[in-house]
Amino acid sequence: MAPRETVICIGCPLGCRVTVLRDRKGNVAGFKGAECKQGQKYVLEELKNPVRTLTATVRTGDESCPLLPVRTSRPVPKALMKPIMRETARVKAAPPVKAGDVILKNVLKTKADLVATADWPGAGGEG
Ligand code: SF4
Repeated sequence: MAPRETVICIGCPLGCRVTVLRDRKGNVAGFKGAECKQGQKYVLEELKNPVRTLTATVRTGDESCPLLPVRTSRPVPKALMKPIMRETARVKAAPPVKAGDVILKNVLKTKADLVATADWPGAGGEG
């Protein structure tokens, strides 16, 4: 018997625990626990190509605000999270930065940009 696969659907706050049912050949035969069809679609995507929005920080070189928070503009393949983190570690932001500004375009050809999630300098003039 194949190991049970359970995925928590993030489609809505209900957070259904969806168990994947497989036939003897290992093909997906159905789902248990999803309250709606969206959950089944989410789990199929999660099995095929899991993606996540990456949040991180980039260096600024400014002592008063050494790190600037960033995130990817769209979810990126889970398998690329570490390589993208390595790219992020090489980046140095240059002021002024507004929340939403692109810090690194098309990171590792994922079509996702690394965007700032805060202003720098901040509203008070400090980092
Ligand atoms: S399966 Fe449907 S109801 Fe359940 S968490 Fe996902 S979207 Fe919400």
